[in-house]
Amino acid sequence: MITAKNYIGNKPTSEGAKKLISFNPANGKSFTEDFRAATEGEVDAAIGAAMHAFEAYKAKTSNERATFLRAIAQNIEDLGDEMVQRASAETALPEARIKGERGRTCNQLRSFADIIEEGSWVNARIDTALADRAPVPKPDLRKMEVPMGPVAVFGASNFPLAYSTAGGDTASALASGCPVIVKGHESHLGTNDLVTQAVLKAVEETGMPNGVFSMVNGGIDIGQQLAKDERIKAIGFTGSLRGGRALFDTASQRKTPIPVYAEMGSTNPVVFFPDKLKTETEDLAKQLAGSVTLGVGQFCTSPGLLIGLASEELTQFTAILETELSNAAQSTMLNEGIGASYLESVSKVTAAQGVEALAKADTAGKPGCAKVKGSAFIKNPELHHEVFGPFTIVIECEGNEELLRVIQSLEGQLTGSFMATEKDIDQFSKTIEALTDRVGRIICNGVPTGVEVCPSMHHGGPYPASTSGKYTSVGRDAIIRFTRSVAFQSWPDKRLPRELQDANPSQIWRLVNNDWTQNPV
Ligand code: NAP
Repeated sequence: MITAKNYIGNKPTSEGAKKLISFNPANGKSFTEDFRAATEGEVDAAIGAAMHAFEAYKAKTSNERATFLRAIAQNIEDLGDEMVQRASAETALPEARIKGERGRTCNQLRSFADIIEEGSWVNARIDTALADRAPVPKPDLRKMEVPMGPVAVFGASNFPLAYSTAGGDTASALASGCPVIVKGHESHLGTNDLVTQAVLKAVEETGMPNGVFSMVNGGIDIGQQLAKDERIKAIGFTGSLRGGRALFDTASQRKTPIPVYAEMGSTNPVVFFPDKLKTETEDLAKQLAGSVTLGVGQFCTSPGLLIGLASEELTQFTAILETELSNAAQSTMLNEGIGASYLESVSKVTAAQGVEALAKADTAGKPGCAKVKGSAFIKNPELHHEVFGPFTIVIECEGNEELLRVIQSLEGQLTGSFMATEKDIDQFSKTIEALTDRVGRIICNGVPTGVEVCPSMHHGGPYPASTSGKYTSVGRDAIIRFTRSVAFQSWPDKRLPRELQDANPSQIWRLVNNDWTQNPV
Protein backbone atom coordinates (compact mmCIF):
# COMPACT_ATOMS: atom_id res chain seq x y z
CA MET A 1 0.00 0.00 0.00
CA ILE A 2 1.25 3.47 -0.84
CA THR A 3 2.24 5.39 2.31
CA ALA A 4 3.08 8.78 0.72
CA LYS A 5 5.96 9.24 3.19
CA ASN A 6 9.60 10.15 2.98
CA TYR A 7 11.85 7.57 4.63
CA ILE A 8 14.79 8.39 6.89
CA GLY A 9 16.15 4.89 7.05
CA ASN A 10 13.16 2.82 8.10
CA LYS A 11 11.37 5.80 9.69
CA PRO A 12 8.43 7.19 7.68
CA THR A 13 8.20 10.99 7.94
CA SER A 14 6.08 13.74 6.45
CA GLU A 15 7.04 17.04 8.03
CA GLY A 16 6.92 19.32 4.98
CA ALA A 17 4.22 21.79 4.01
CA LYS A 18 4.78 21.54 0.24
CA LYS A 19 2.39 19.05 -1.39
CA LEU A 20 3.49 16.90 -4.32
CA ILE A 21 0.92 15.41 -6.64
CA SER A 22 1.08 12.09 -8.43
CA PHE A 23 -0.55 12.29 -11.90
CA ASN A 24 -1.82 9.92 -14.52
CA PRO A 25 -0.56 11.63 -17.71
CA ALA A 26 -2.93 9.60 -19.91
CA ASN A 27 -6.13 10.99 -18.38
CA GLY A 28 -4.77 14.04 -16.54
CA LYS A 29 -6.27 12.83 -13.25
CA SER A 30 -4.34 13.06 -10.02
CA PHE A 31 -4.04 10.38 -7.37
CA THR A 32 -5.34 11.23 -3.93
CA GLU A 33 -2.35 10.45 -1.67
CA ASP A 34 -0.86 13.31 0.29
CA PHE A 35 2.84 13.33 -0.72
CA ARG A 36 5.00 16.02 0.86
CA ALA A 37 8.38 17.41 -0.17
CA ALA A 38 10.99 16.60 2.47
CA THR A 39 12.15 19.45 4.67
CA GLU A 40 15.77 20.48 5.03
CA GLY A 41 15.71 18.75 8.41
CA GLU A 42 14.45 15.46 6.96
CA VAL A 43 17.16 15.50 4.26
CA ASP A 44 19.78 16.27 6.89
CA ALA A 45 18.53 13.36 9.02
CA ALA A 46 18.64 10.98 6.03
CA ILE A 47 22.27 11.94 5.33
CA GLY A 48 23.12 11.53 9.01
CA ALA A 49 21.54 8.07 9.04
CA ALA A 50 23.49 7.08 5.91
CA MET A 51 26.74 8.27 7.45
CA HIS A 52 25.99 6.33 10.61
CA ALA A 53 25.10 3.17 8.65
CA PHE A 54 28.25 3.34 6.50
CA GLU A 55 30.58 1.90 9.16
CA ALA A 56 28.37 -1.12 9.81
CA TYR A 57 27.41 -1.64 6.17
CA LYS A 58 30.93 -1.70 4.78
CA ALA A 59 31.84 -4.23 7.49
CA LYS A 60 29.19 -6.67 6.17
CA THR A 61 30.59 -9.55 4.16
CA SER A 62 30.05 -9.71 0.41
CA ASN A 63 27.73 -12.67 0.96
CA GLU A 64 25.61 -10.65 3.38
CA ARG A 65 25.37 -7.74 0.96
CA ALA A 66 24.52 -10.15 -1.88
CA THR A 67 21.70 -11.63 0.22
CA PHE A 68 20.40 -8.08 0.76
CA LEU A 69 20.39 -7.31 -3.00
CA ARG A 70 18.59 -10.56 -3.78
CA ALA A 71 15.99 -9.81 -1.10
CA ILE A 72 15.32 -6.42 -2.70
CA ALA A 73 14.75 -8.13 -6.07
CA GLN A 74 12.38 -10.66 -4.51
CA ASN A 75 10.44 -7.95 -2.66
CA ILE A 76 10.06 -5.90 -5.86
CA GLU A 77 8.66 -8.96 -7.62
CA ASP A 78 6.34 -9.55 -4.66
CA LEU A 79 4.84 -6.07 -5.13
CA GLY A 80 3.01 -7.76 -8.02
CA ASP A 81 0.24 -6.11 -10.00
CA GLU A 82 -0.20 -3.12 -7.68
CA MET A 83 3.23 -1.81 -8.61
CA VAL A 84 2.90 -2.66 -12.32
CA GLN A 85 -0.44 -0.88 -12.58
CA ARG A 86 0.71 2.15 -10.63
CA ALA A 87 3.94 2.52 -12.64
CA SER A 88 1.99 2.23 -15.87
CA ALA A 89 -0.60 4.77 -14.72
CA GLU A 90 2.03 7.28 -13.58
CA THR A 91 4.17 7.11 -16.74
CA ALA A 92 1.73 6.12 -19.52
CA LEU A 93 4.16 3.31 -20.36
CA PRO A 94 2.31 0.06 -21.21
CA GLU A 95 2.14 -2.64 -18.52
CA ALA A 96 4.17 -4.99 -20.73
CA ARG A 97 7.02 -2.46 -20.80
CA ILE A 98 6.81 -2.02 -17.01
CA LYS A 99 6.97 -5.80 -16.54
CA GLY A 100 10.00 -5.96 -18.84
CA GLU A 101 11.64 -3.15 -16.89
CA ARG A 102 10.87 -4.90 -13.60
CA GLY A 103 12.64 -8.01 -14.98
CA ARG A 104 15.67 -5.91 -15.92
CA THR A 105 15.71 -4.19 -12.52
CA CYS A 106 15.64 -7.49 -10.61
CA ASN A 107 18.24 -9.03 -12.94
CA GLN A 108 20.55 -6.06 -12.30
CA LEU A 109 20.18 -6.51 -8.53
CA ARG A 110 20.81 -10.27 -8.77
CA SER A 111 23.71 -9.85 -11.14
CA PHE A 112 25.45 -7.38 -8.77
CA ALA A 113 24.81 -9.92 -5.99
CA ASP A 114 26.66 -12.56 -8.07
CA ILE A 115 29.48 -10.14 -8.87
CA ILE A 116 30.21 -9.23 -5.26
CA GLU A 117 29.81 -12.82 -4.08
CA GLU A 118 32.44 -13.95 -6.62
CA GLY A 119 34.58 -11.02 -5.44
CA SER A 120 37.14 -10.33 -8.19
CA TRP A 121 35.50 -6.95 -8.95
CA VAL A 122 37.67 -5.35 -6.22
CA ASN A 123 40.55 -5.48 -8.74
CA ALA A 124 43.14 -6.75 -6.25
CA ARG A 125 46.81 -6.24 -7.14
CA ILE A 126 49.71 -7.57 -5.13
CA ASP A 127 53.40 -6.78 -5.55
CA THR A 128 55.45 -8.63 -2.96
CA ALA A 129 58.48 -7.06 -1.30
CA LEU A 130 61.98 -7.34 -2.70
CA ALA A 131 64.11 -6.78 0.38
CA ASP A 132 67.42 -7.07 -1.43
CA ARG A 133 66.53 -4.89 -4.44
CA ALA A 134 69.29 -2.33 -5.17
CA PRO A 135 69.69 0.51 -4.74
CA VAL A 136 66.58 0.55 -2.48
CA PRO A 137 64.46 -2.36 -1.26
CA LYS A 138 60.92 -2.65 -2.71
CA PRO A 139 58.12 -2.64 -0.10
CA ASP A 140 55.15 -5.05 -0.16
CA LEU A 141 52.24 -3.23 -1.89
CA ARG A 142 48.64 -4.41 -2.24
CA LYS A 143 45.77 -2.46 -3.74
CA MET A 144 41.98 -2.87 -4.03
CA GLU A 145 38.72 -0.93 -4.41
CA VAL A 146 36.85 0.22 -1.30
CA PRO A 147 33.45 1.99 -0.98
CA MET A 148 33.41 5.81 -0.93
CA GLY A 149 30.52 6.48 1.48
CA PRO A 150 26.93 7.76 1.17
CA VAL A 151 25.73 8.14 -2.44
CA ALA A 152 22.81 10.32 -3.63
CA VAL A 153 20.82 8.80 -6.51
CA PHE A 154 18.49 10.86 -8.72
CA GLY A 155 15.80 8.63 -10.21
CA ALA A 156 15.11 8.97 -13.96
CA SER A 157 11.65 9.87 -15.29
CA ASN A 158 11.99 7.60 -18.35
CA PHE A 159 13.00 4.44 -16.44
CA PRO A 160 10.69 4.39 -13.39
CA LEU A 161 12.21 1.07 -12.24
CA ALA A 162 15.48 0.22 -14.00
CA TYR A 163 17.06 3.68 -13.45
CA SER A 164 15.12 4.90 -10.48
CA THR A 165 14.61 3.97 -6.80
CA ALA A 166 16.23 0.50 -6.89
CA GLY A 167 17.67 0.77 -10.40
CA GLY A 168 21.20 0.43 -11.73
CA ASP A 169 22.73 3.33 -9.77
CA THR A 170 21.25 2.18 -6.44
CA ALA A 171 22.09 -1.49 -7.08
CA SER A 172 25.72 -0.76 -7.98
CA ALA A 173 26.23 1.66 -5.06
CA LEU A 174 24.73 -0.77 -2.53
CA ALA A 175 26.77 -3.63 -4.04
CA SER A 176 29.99 -1.66 -3.59
CA GLY A 177 29.26 -1.08 0.13
CA CYS A 178 27.85 2.48 -0.04
CA PRO A 179 24.61 3.58 1.65
CA VAL A 180 22.13 5.26 -0.73
CA ILE A 181 19.76 8.21 -0.45
CA VAL A 182 17.30 8.33 -3.34
CA LYS A 183 15.83 11.65 -4.44
CA GLY A 184 12.50 10.35 -5.80
CA HIS A 185 11.36 11.58 -9.21
CA GLU A 186 8.17 13.61 -9.05
CA SER A 187 6.93 11.88 -12.18
CA HIS A 188 6.32 8.53 -10.43
CA LEU A 189 5.82 9.21 -6.72
CA GLY A 190 3.64 6.16 -6.04
CA THR A 191 5.95 3.70 -7.83
CA ASN A 192 8.90 5.16 -5.93
CA ASP A 193 7.00 4.74 -2.65
CA LEU A 194 6.24 1.04 -3.30
CA VAL A 195 9.82 0.23 -4.37
CA THR A 196 11.18 2.11 -1.33
CA GLN A 197 9.11 -0.13 0.92
CA ALA A 198 10.46 -3.23 -0.90
CA VAL A 199 14.04 -2.06 -0.26
CA LEU A 200 13.39 -1.23 3.40
CA LYS A 201 11.72 -4.60 3.95
CA ALA A 202 14.90 -6.22 2.61
CA VAL A 203 17.01 -4.08 4.99
CA GLU A 204 15.04 -5.48 7.91
CA GLU A 205 14.87 -9.09 6.66
CA THR A 206 18.62 -9.34 6.07
CA GLY A 207 19.82 -7.42 9.14
CA MET A 208 21.34 -4.48 7.29
CA PRO A 209 22.00 -1.31 9.32
CA ASN A 210 19.18 1.19 9.52
CA GLY A 211 20.03 4.17 7.29
CA VAL A 212 21.68 2.13 4.54
CA PHE A 213 18.77 3.27 2.35
CA SER A 214 16.66 6.43 2.61
CA MET A 215 14.28 8.14 0.21
CA VAL A 216 13.34 11.81 0.08
CA ASN A 217 10.82 13.44 -2.25
CA GLY A 218 10.96 17.06 -3.32
CA GLY A 219 12.23 19.57 -5.83
CA ILE A 220 15.50 21.07 -6.99
CA ASP A 221 16.27 22.50 -3.52
CA ILE A 222 16.34 18.96 -2.08
CA GLY A 223 18.67 17.82 -4.87
CA GLN A 224 20.94 20.79 -4.32
CA GLN A 225 21.05 20.16 -0.56
CA LEU A 226 22.16 16.58 -1.19
CA ALA A 227 24.85 17.67 -3.66
CA LYS A 228 26.20 20.36 -1.31
CA ASP A 229 26.38 18.23 1.83
CA GLU A 230 29.98 17.27 2.60
CA ARG A 231 28.84 13.86 3.90
CA ILE A 232 27.63 12.79 0.42
CA LYS A 233 30.56 11.21 -1.42
CA ALA A 234 29.19 10.62 -4.95
CA ILE A 235 26.10 11.19 -7.10
CA GLY A 236 24.35 9.01 -9.71
CA PHE A 237 21.99 10.86 -12.07
CA THR A 238 19.99 10.27 -15.28
CA GLY A 239 18.08 13.12 -16.88
CA SER A 240 18.56 16.42 -18.65
CA LEU A 241 21.84 18.17 -19.47
CA ARG A 242 20.62 21.16 -17.47
CA GLY A 243 19.91 19.10 -14.32
CA GLY A 244 23.04 16.95 -14.58
CA ARG A 245 25.29 19.94 -15.23
CA ALA A 246 23.75 21.90 -12.31
CA LEU A 247 24.49 19.02 -9.92
CA PHE A 248 27.98 18.59 -11.36
CA ASP A 249 28.72 22.32 -10.86
CA THR A 250 27.41 22.28 -7.28
CA ALA A 251 29.44 19.18 -6.43
CA SER A 252 32.58 20.68 -7.99
CA GLN A 253 32.26 23.90 -6.00
CA ARG A 254 32.09 22.19 -2.60
CA LYS A 255 34.96 22.44 -0.16
CA THR A 256 35.49 18.74 -1.01
CA PRO A 257 34.43 18.16 -4.63
CA ILE A 258 32.93 14.75 -5.41
CA PRO A 259 32.27 12.76 -8.59
CA VAL A 260 28.87 13.21 -10.26
CA TYR A 261 28.09 10.38 -12.67
CA ALA A 262 25.45 12.08 -14.79
CA GLU A 263 24.06 10.44 -17.88
CA MET A 264 22.46 13.24 -19.89
CA GLY A 265 21.28 13.97 -23.42
CA SER A 266 22.46 12.31 -26.63
CA THR A 267 21.35 12.59 -30.28
CA ASN A 268 22.75 9.15 -31.20
CA PRO A 269 23.71 9.88 -34.84
CA VAL A 270 23.18 7.15 -37.43
CA VAL A 271 25.26 7.40 -40.62
CA PHE A 272 24.04 5.74 -43.84
CA PHE A 273 26.80 4.95 -46.30
CA PRO A 274 25.86 4.84 -50.01
CA ASP A 275 26.38 1.20 -50.93
CA LYS A 276 24.29 -0.02 -47.97
CA LEU A 277 21.59 2.61 -48.48
CA LYS A 278 21.25 1.71 -52.17
CA THR A 279 20.53 -1.95 -51.48
CA GLU A 280 18.36 -1.64 -48.35
CA THR A 281 16.61 1.73 -48.68
CA GLU A 282 13.14 0.64 -47.59
CA ASP A 283 14.26 -1.76 -44.83
CA LEU A 284 16.51 0.87 -43.31
CA ALA A 285 13.81 3.54 -43.36
CA LYS A 286 11.33 1.21 -41.63
CA GLN A 287 13.93 0.03 -39.11
CA LEU A 288 14.76 3.62 -38.20
CA ALA A 289 11.10 4.66 -37.93
CA GLY A 290 10.66 1.80 -35.42
CA SER A 291 13.68 2.93 -33.42
CA VAL A 292 12.60 6.62 -33.40
CA THR A 293 9.11 5.78 -32.09
CA LEU A 294 10.14 3.06 -29.60
CA GLY A 295 9.00 4.01 -26.07
CA VAL A 296 7.59 7.29 -27.55
CA GLY A 297 11.21 8.25 -28.28
CA GLN A 298 11.85 8.65 -24.55
CA PHE A 299 15.12 6.74 -24.52
CA CYS A 300 18.55 8.24 -24.04
CA THR A 301 19.56 6.15 -27.08
CA SER A 302 16.80 7.35 -29.43
CA PRO A 303 18.24 8.13 -32.91
CA GLY A 304 17.91 11.92 -33.32
CA LEU A 305 20.22 12.51 -36.31
CA LEU A 306 20.19 10.47 -39.55
CA ILE A 307 23.12 11.39 -41.78
CA GLY A 308 23.77 10.49 -45.42
CA LEU A 309 25.05 11.72 -48.77
CA ALA A 310 22.52 13.64 -50.89
CA SER A 311 21.30 11.07 -53.43
CA GLU A 312 18.20 9.52 -54.94
CA GLU A 313 18.39 6.76 -52.32
CA LEU A 314 18.52 9.23 -49.42
CA THR A 315 15.50 11.08 -50.89
CA GLN A 316 13.63 7.78 -51.14
CA PHE A 317 14.72 6.78 -47.61
CA THR A 318 13.47 10.13 -46.27
CA ALA A 319 10.11 9.79 -48.05
CA ILE A 320 9.51 6.30 -46.57
CA LEU A 321 10.60 7.49 -43.12
CA GLU A 322 8.22 10.45 -43.38
CA THR A 323 5.31 8.15 -44.31
CA GLU A 324 6.11 5.69 -41.52
CA LEU A 325 6.34 8.46 -38.90
CA SER A 326 3.19 10.20 -40.18
CA ASN A 327 1.27 6.92 -39.89
CA ALA A 328 2.69 5.99 -36.48
CA ALA A 329 0.33 6.30 -33.54
CA GLN A 330 0.58 9.25 -31.20
CA SER A 331 1.23 8.19 -27.59
CA THR A 332 1.14 9.91 -24.21
CA MET A 333 4.50 11.15 -22.98
CA LEU A 334 5.89 10.56 -19.48
CA ASN A 335 4.54 13.78 -18.04
CA GLU A 336 3.12 17.13 -19.07
CA GLY A 337 6.49 18.90 -18.70
CA ILE A 338 8.25 16.43 -21.00
CA GLY A 339 5.37 16.77 -23.53
CA ALA A 340 5.66 20.58 -23.47
CA SER A 341 9.43 20.45 -23.76
CA TYR A 342 9.10 18.07 -26.77
CA LEU A 343 6.87 20.51 -28.63
CA GLU A 344 9.12 23.45 -27.78
CA SER A 345 12.25 21.61 -28.99
CA VAL A 346 10.52 20.48 -32.21
CA SER A 347 9.31 23.99 -33.01
CA LYS A 348 12.79 25.43 -32.38
CA VAL A 349 14.30 22.89 -34.79
CA THR A 350 11.69 23.32 -37.51
CA ALA A 351 11.87 27.13 -37.32
CA ALA A 352 15.63 27.11 -37.83
CA GLN A 353 17.11 28.37 -41.08
CA GLY A 354 17.34 25.75 -43.79
CA VAL A 355 15.23 23.16 -41.96
CA GLU A 356 12.28 21.61 -43.80
CA ALA A 357 9.59 20.05 -41.58
CA LEU A 358 8.38 16.71 -42.95
CA ALA A 359 6.16 14.48 -40.74
CA LYS A 360 4.59 17.07 -38.42
CA ALA A 361 5.01 16.63 -34.66
CA ASP A 362 2.41 19.21 -33.64
CA THR A 363 1.05 17.41 -30.56
CA ALA A 364 3.00 15.99 -27.61
CA GLY A 365 3.96 12.39 -28.35
CA LYS A 366 3.25 12.65 -32.10
CA PRO A 367 6.20 11.32 -34.11
CA GLY A 368 7.85 13.64 -36.60
CA CYS A 369 10.91 14.39 -38.71
CA ALA A 370 12.63 17.19 -40.58
CA LYS A 371 15.49 17.51 -43.03
CA VAL A 372 18.39 19.90 -43.40
CA LYS A 373 21.48 20.28 -45.55
CA GLY A 374 24.84 19.41 -43.98
CA SER A 375 26.16 22.97 -44.32
CA ALA A 376 23.15 24.44 -42.43
CA PHE A 377 23.47 21.79 -39.73
CA ILE A 378 27.14 22.56 -39.13
CA LYS A 379 26.39 26.28 -38.76
CA ASN A 380 23.55 25.95 -36.25
CA PRO A 381 24.38 24.53 -32.78
CA GLU A 382 20.65 24.53 -31.88
CA LEU A 383 20.21 21.56 -34.24
CA HIS A 384 22.82 19.54 -32.35
CA HIS A 385 20.75 19.27 -29.13
CA GLU A 386 18.67 16.28 -28.08
CA VAL A 387 14.93 16.49 -28.83
CA PHE A 388 13.58 14.15 -26.14
CA GLY A 389 10.73 12.30 -27.87
CA PRO A 390 9.86 10.57 -31.18
CA PHE A 391 11.54 13.08 -33.53
CA THR A 392 14.53 12.86 -35.85
CA ILE A 393 16.39 15.03 -38.37
CA VAL A 394 17.73 13.79 -41.71
CA ILE A 395 20.98 15.52 -42.67
CA GLU A 396 21.80 15.60 -46.40
CA CYS A 397 25.51 16.04 -47.08
CA GLU A 398 26.96 17.32 -50.38
CA GLY A 399 29.89 14.96 -50.78
CA ASN A 400 32.23 12.93 -48.59
CA GLU A 401 34.09 15.97 -47.21
CA GLU A 402 30.90 17.56 -45.91
CA LEU A 403 29.82 14.24 -44.40
CA LEU A 404 33.10 14.11 -42.49
CA ARG A 405 32.70 17.73 -41.35
CA VAL A 406 29.17 17.02 -40.08
CA ILE A 407 30.54 14.17 -37.96
CA GLN A 408 33.42 16.33 -36.75
CA SER A 409 30.94 19.02 -35.66
CA LEU A 410 29.13 16.65 -33.28
CA GLU A 411 29.47 16.78 -29.50
CA GLY A 412 30.01 13.69 -27.32
CA GLN A 413 27.33 11.00 -27.70
CA LEU A 414 26.25 7.84 -25.90
CA THR A 415 26.12 5.97 -29.20
CA GLY A 416 26.98 6.34 -32.88
CA SER A 417 25.77 3.92 -35.55
CA PHE A 418 26.77 3.35 -39.13
CA MET A 419 24.97 1.35 -41.80
CA ALA A 420 27.58 0.00 -44.19
CA THR A 421 28.71 -2.79 -46.51
CA GLU A 422 32.34 -3.98 -46.47
CA LYS A 423 32.91 -1.69 -49.46
CA ASP A 424 31.56 1.29 -47.50
CA ILE A 425 33.74 0.46 -44.49
CA ASP A 426 36.84 0.49 -46.73
CA GLN A 427 35.85 3.74 -48.40
CA PHE A 428 34.70 5.65 -45.30
CA SER A 429 37.17 4.48 -42.65
CA LYS A 430 38.12 8.08 -41.75
CA THR A 431 34.46 9.03 -41.22
CA ILE A 432 33.88 5.94 -39.06
CA GLU A 433 36.97 6.81 -37.02
CA ALA A 434 35.71 10.39 -36.53
CA LEU A 435 32.38 8.99 -35.29
CA THR A 436 34.13 6.53 -32.95
CA ASP A 437 36.11 9.43 -31.42
CA ARG A 438 32.84 11.03 -30.28
CA VAL A 439 30.83 8.13 -28.83
CA GLY A 440 30.75 5.61 -25.97
CA ARG A 441 29.31 2.77 -28.11
CA ILE A 442 29.84 2.41 -31.87
CA ILE A 443 27.28 0.22 -33.65
CA CYS A 444 27.75 -1.41 -37.04
CA ASN A 445 24.49 -2.07 -38.94
CA GLY A 446 22.15 -1.70 -35.99
CA VAL A 447 19.95 0.90 -34.35
CA PRO A 448 21.00 2.55 -31.06
CA THR A 449 17.89 1.69 -29.03
CA GLY A 450 18.24 -1.47 -26.91
CA VAL A 451 20.99 -1.52 -24.28
CA GLU A 452 22.25 -4.97 -23.27
CA VAL A 453 23.09 -5.33 -19.58
CA CYS A 454 26.39 -7.24 -19.65
CA PRO A 455 30.06 -6.76 -18.71
CA SER A 456 31.11 -5.45 -22.14
CA MET A 457 28.42 -2.77 -22.31
CA HIS A 458 29.56 0.83 -22.12
CA HIS A 459 26.72 3.28 -21.48
CA GLY A 460 28.33 6.67 -21.13
CA GLY A 461 30.05 8.92 -23.63
CA PRO A 462 32.20 12.03 -23.91
CA TYR A 463 30.59 15.20 -22.47
CA PRO A 464 27.78 16.25 -22.78
CA ALA A 465 26.44 12.68 -23.14
CA SER A 466 27.77 12.06 -19.65
CA THR A 467 30.02 13.85 -17.18
CA SER A 468 32.75 11.24 -17.70
CA GLY A 469 33.05 9.07 -20.79
CA LYS A 470 35.27 6.71 -18.79
CA TYR A 471 32.43 5.29 -16.71
CA THR A 472 29.34 3.27 -17.58
CA SER A 473 25.98 3.38 -15.81
CA VAL A 474 24.96 -0.01 -17.27
CA GLY A 475 26.65 -3.36 -16.69
CA ARG A 476 29.22 -4.77 -14.28
CA ASP A 477 31.65 -1.82 -14.34
CA ALA A 478 28.96 0.54 -12.99
CA ILE A 479 30.05 -0.60 -9.50
CA ILE A 480 33.48 1.07 -9.67
CA ARG A 481 31.89 4.52 -9.94
CA PHE A 482 31.27 4.38 -6.21
CA THR A 483 34.63 3.10 -5.04
CA ARG A 484 38.14 4.46 -4.66
CA SER A 485 41.45 2.63 -4.66
CA VAL A 486 43.54 2.10 -1.53
CA ALA A 487 47.09 0.75 -1.55
CA PHE A 488 48.20 -1.06 1.63
CA GLN A 489 51.96 -0.83 2.06
CA SER A 490 53.94 -3.24 4.25
CA TRP A 491 50.91 -4.48 6.22
CA PRO A 492 50.92 -7.59 8.42
CA ASP A 493 49.09 -10.29 6.44
CA LYS A 494 46.37 -11.03 9.01
CA ARG A 495 45.48 -7.30 9.26
CA LEU A 496 44.85 -6.95 5.53
CA PRO A 497 41.34 -7.17 3.99
CA ARG A 498 40.56 -10.80 3.08
CA GLU A 499 40.88 -9.99 -0.63
CA LEU A 500 44.56 -9.09 -0.19
CA GLN A 501 45.70 -11.76 2.25
CA ASP A 502 48.37 -14.25 1.12
CA ALA A 503 46.06 -17.28 1.36
CA ASN A 504 43.39 -15.68 -0.90
CA PRO A 505 40.56 -17.14 1.21
CA SER A 506 37.89 -15.82 -1.20
CA GLN A 507 39.70 -17.37 -4.18
CA ILE A 508 39.29 -14.25 -6.27
CA TRP A 509 41.33 -13.38 -9.36
CA ARG A 510 44.27 -11.13 -8.46
CA LEU A 511 47.21 -9.63 -10.32
CA VAL A 512 50.11 -11.02 -8.30
CA ASN A 513 53.56 -9.85 -9.37
CA ASN A 514 52.11 -9.14 -12.83
CA ASP A 515 50.35 -12.53 -13.28
CA TRP A 516 46.56 -13.00 -13.08
CA THR A 517 45.95 -15.88 -10.68
CA GLN A 518 43.62 -17.32 -8.04
CA ASN A 519 46.53 -19.01 -6.28
CA PRO A 520 47.76 -18.00 -2.83
CA VAL A 521 50.87 -15.82 -2.68
P1 NAP B 1 15.59 16.50 -15.13
O1 NAP B 1 14.82 17.75 -15.24
O2 NAP B 1 17.03 16.58 -15.44
O3 NAP B 1 15.39 15.96 -13.64
C1 NAP B 1 16.01 14.77 -13.16
C2 NAP B 1 16.12 14.85 -11.64
O4 NAP B 1 17.09 15.85 -11.28
C3 NAP B 1 14.83 15.27 -10.96
O5 NAP B 1 14.75 14.61 -9.73
C4 NAP B 1 15.01 16.76 -10.77
O6 NAP B 1 14.28 17.29 -9.70
C5 NAP B 1 16.49 16.85 -10.47
N1 NAP B 1 17.04 18.14 -10.87
C6 NAP B 1 16.84 18.77 -12.05
N2 NAP B 1 17.51 19.93 -12.07
C7 NAP B 1 18.16 20.02 -10.88
C8 NAP B 1 19.01 21.00 -10.30
N3 NAP B 1 19.32 22.12 -10.93
N4 NAP B 1 19.50 20.77 -9.07
C9 NAP B 1 19.18 19.64 -8.39
N5 NAP B 1 18.36 18.70 -8.87
C10 NAP B 1 17.86 18.88 -10.10
O7 NAP B 1 15.00 15.34 -16.03
P2 NAP B 1 13.50 14.84 -16.22
O8 NAP B 1 12.57 15.53 -15.29
O9 NAP B 1 13.55 13.39 -16.13
O10 NAP B 1 13.15 15.22 -17.71
C11 NAP B 1 13.29 16.53 -18.23
C12 NAP B 1 14.09 16.50 -19.51
O11 NAP B 1 15.29 15.76 -19.32
C13 NAP B 1 13.42 15.80 -20.66
O12 NAP B 1 12.54 16.61 -21.37
C14 NAP B 1 14.59 15.36 -21.46
O13 NAP B 1 15.01 16.41 -22.31
C15 NAP B 1 15.67 15.08 -20.50
N6 NAP B 1 15.86 13.63 -20.17
C16 NAP B 1 16.85 12.98 -20.79
C17 NAP B 1 17.06 11.65 -20.49
C18 NAP B 1 18.15 10.88 -21.14
O14 NAP B 1 18.22 9.68 -20.89
N7 NAP B 1 18.99 11.48 -21.92
C19 NAP B 1 16.27 10.99 -19.57
C20 NAP B 1 15.25 11.68 -18.94
C21 NAP B 1 15.07 13.02 -19.26
P3 NAP B 1 12.80 17.86 -9.98
O15 NAP B 1 11.96 16.70 -10.39
O16 NAP B 1 12.40 18.40 -8.69
O17 NAP B 1 12.94 18.89 -11.05
